[in-house]
Formats: sequence, structure tokens, C-alpha cells
Amino acid sequence: MQRTRVAEILSSEKIGTRFTVMGWVRTRRDSKGGFSFIELNDGSCLDGIQLIADQGLPNYKDEILKLTTGCSIKAVGELAKSPGKGQNVELQAQEIEVLGWVDPEVYPLQKKRHSFEFLRTIAHLRPRTNTFGAVARVRNAMSQAIHSFFQERGFIYIHTPIITGSDCEGAGEMFKVTTFDLDQVPKKGSNTDFGQDFFGGPANLTVSGQLEAEIYALAMGDVYTFGPTFRAEDSNTSRHLAEFWMVEPEMAFCDLEGNMALAEEFLKYIFAYVLDSCKGDMDFFNRFIDPSVIKTLEGLVSQDFEYLTYTEGIDTLLKSKQQFEFPVVWGSDLQSEHERYLCEKVFGRPIILVDYPKEIKSFYMKVNKDGKTVRAMDVLVPKIGEIIGGSQREDDYDTLFERIKEAGLNPDDYWWYLELRKFGSVPHSGFGLGFERLIQFVTGLSNIRDVIPFPRTPGNVSF
Ligand code: ATP
Ligand code: MN
Repeated sequence: MQRTRVAEILSSEKIGTRFTVMGWVRTRRDSKGGFSFIELNDGSCLDGIQLIADQGLPNYKDEILKLTTGCSIKAVGELAKSPGKGQNVELQAQEIEVLGWVDPEVYPLQKKRHSFEFLRTIAHLRPRTNTFGAVARVRNAMSQAIHSFFQERGFIYIHTPIITGSDCEGAGEMFKVTTFDLDQVPKKGSNTDFGQDFFGGPANLTVSGQLEAEIYALAMGDVYTFGPTFRAEDSNTSRHLAEFWMVEPEMAFCDLEGNMALAEEFLKYIFAYVLDSCKGDMDFFNRFIDPSVIKTLEGLVSQDFEYLTYTEGIDTLLKSKQQFEFPVVWGSDLQSEHERYLCEKVFGRPIILVDYPKEIKSFYMKVNKDGKTVRAMDVLVPKIGEIIGGSQREDDYDTLFERIKEAGLNPDDYWWYLELRKFGSVPHSGFGLGFERLIQFVTGLSNIRDVIPFPRTPGNVSF
């Protein structure tokens, strides 16, 4: 089945050329003059192509006049300049074949705008809407941009494992992987006998590829992973998914300053890429979702990020006299209301906060000379808050050993991670960026469930 994509036809505008298009009917309008306008969308771009179907077509009465939203068709016709408003070109159909009918009584996607909540219940059809088509294309372009950014800079793409025996953050929140019959779990005394399980020990879905990326950075220099990660956190927010994609570069011979510079350059690259390559979709988001997205992204590309320490951030918040739901205290984690206040109200731009108290950050972050703070960095953006979390990693064996114990973890479980500090240790740094948070930021969509094709959240896995 040979066809030309609508995106290609609309961008080349080859008047007089015969094309075959295939796609789904968005609308049909019949004119008194004995012909119909059919808007056909094939997902290749936001715009559909307008087909002109004349009553002279053999199936005009029996089929074309019965076409409704959602029907799939094949049309062959000649491209012509369009006299009408709203499109430059149209296809004058010489042949239209109906591939699949729709019963309009039961087809859930009608012309009217549906709520995002409703569309989440029909994840098998929502990609046919303008919004979800645009999200899918922007998501695709951003994935491409992520790879080009790192590949252009000589980073090696590493496929870190999905199933792991280690828990990166040292905390809970992991999904277990097992082949046990859950009604008859083998026991050793009162404990589960994981020795009898598939892997001969407990296994989980990864929460981050960082630790494995560090292994490769300490052999290959600059590496990155980009893949799915899983968190069983029961946080039902508009920014958390149980399955989300993470981008994690890891660089040997790199300190926190190098890490911050890369994070800023990376975000600017992605924003510029999307603005340049997804014009139609970005205009759509700007018109229908958030009238400030394009201006915000353009501003970010040309603006320097603000750098400040966690302590300076806390001082600024305390001096602001602003009432927050959560109190501002040195030593506790910033809530997203605090992060957003700093970005939106105080600085009006993205900020990178560094040197957090070690108690609220992970064991692997390098301890500063003050002994109280660690070389952590969070990149905060307006409307979302934290979008990137990263750090310079602890590269001193003894300090790391102590930090693992302080975190209540067993150093034996991290023997290989510790050995990397024993055999040719080097300063190294990296960060993790939540891909869906970035897409939220770029598209202006307020709920993270709407920027991933099939969102997994507490209580929802069926679709
Ligand atoms: P938060 O405080 O928002 O839960 P975090 O501190 O747990 O974030 P990290 O462990 O540093 O986040 O993960 C790195 C990045 O992954 C975050 O900056 C964020 O962009 C993204 N992220 C973290 N948890 C989720 C989640 N459940 N769903 C989607 N993205 C997430
Ligand atoms: Mn979290």
C-alpha cells in the first residue's frame, strides 16, 4: 500500500501532482453544489489535508455521504491550490475507498472538545485527537534531540538494566520482580526465601540507571542512559508517574560546575530544537493549552540560569515574608511551592540550587569541606519546580563507606560501587532528568498523565 504522508504533501505543495493519502476522517461538510469537503488526518502533522469529493465519484451517494468522524479512507487525487480559507492546498479526489467504517452513535471522539480526564479513559483512541497527536510528535522530537545532544558531544549511550538487584537511592519505593506464586511464597522461617526465586535473590525494577552509568563513565568517560524507570511511590500528583523515562548523563573528570553547565546547555538545546522542529504543534499548545509556552521557551534559550546555594535559597525564602503551606527551615527539603516561588517570583528564570544539607540527599553525593552539605544540584523551572536532580559523586572510598552506613545501608551490598573508588577513582558527576516533566514544561500540559502514551499511576495500569 503506497501512500504519501500528509506532512510531506503540505510542506512540499507540489501542485498538479497525483498523490495517494490514507488516514482518518476528522470532518465532512457537504456543499450545495454537489461535492463534499473531507478533512483527513494521518497523524504525520497537526494539520489535515482537505479532500474535495465530487458527486461524480461512483461511491459518492452510497459511501462518501455516509462518512463520519473516525472512518478510515484511502484517497487518490491531484493536488490543487485551495481557494478556501484555512489551507493553501487541497486534494481533488479521483477515487476514495473506505477502509474502515465507524458507528457514529458509539464512537467516543466527536467534534466537540473532550476533557483530558475523559480522554485518559480511552487511551486507545486519544492519540487521534489534536492534543495527543501533538504530544506524541513533540515527545518523539525531544527523544531525538536528547540523543543528538549527547552524540554530538561524544557521549556513549549505555543500556543500563531494567531489572536490578540494587536499590539506587537506598530507599523503598521499588517494584518487586518475582516469579513466585504469590499464594504460596516459599518461606525460610518467617521470611520469604528469595533463594528459591528466579534470580536467587530479591530483584526490583530500576528507579535509576545512575549507579550502572557510573560504572561505564569510569571506563569510557562520558556516557548517558535514557530509558524507563519505575517508582512505587504512592504520590498521586500531577508530576509523578509510577513508570517514567529518565535521561541520565554521567561524566568522568567532571565536577559540579561542569555538571551544572552541561545541564543548562542541555535544556537550552532541547528547547531550541523543539521550537525549530515542531512549529505547528508548538503553535497549537500556545493557542489551546498555555498562551505563554513559546515565549517562555524562547526566553530560556537566550537567558542565563541563576545559580545559588541551598542556604541562599532558604534565606531568600525566609526574607520574602511569603506565606507557604510548608514551613521554610534550613535542613528540610524544599517543596515545589518554594521552588516555584524562587523561579517565578524572585528570579523569573530557571535556577540551579547547589550544596544541599547532606541529611536530605543521597549517600553517593560528594560531601563538601564544611562536612554539612553535599555537592548536589537541583535545576528548578517555573510552573514545575524540580526538573533535574544531580550531583558530583563521592569519589573517596572512606567517606563513601561511612555515608553508606549512615544511610542505614549495608556496605556489602555496594561492594562493587565502593570498589570503583578503590581502583582508579576519579572526580565524576551526573544528573537525572525526568523526561515527562520536561515534556510538561515544553507543552504546557498541567498533568503528567497526558504527556506519556500510557500513564501508570497508583490504581491505574489497565491502559
Ligand atoms: P520529586 O521530589 O519531585 O519526587 P525526586 O527528588 O524523587 O523528585 P530524583 O530522584 O532526583 O527526583 O529523580 C530525578 C528526576 O526524575 C526528577 O528531577 C524528576 O524530574 C523526575 N522524577 C522523579 N520522580 C518522578 C516520578 N515519580 N514521575 C515522573 N518523574 C519523576
Ligand atoms: Mn520523588
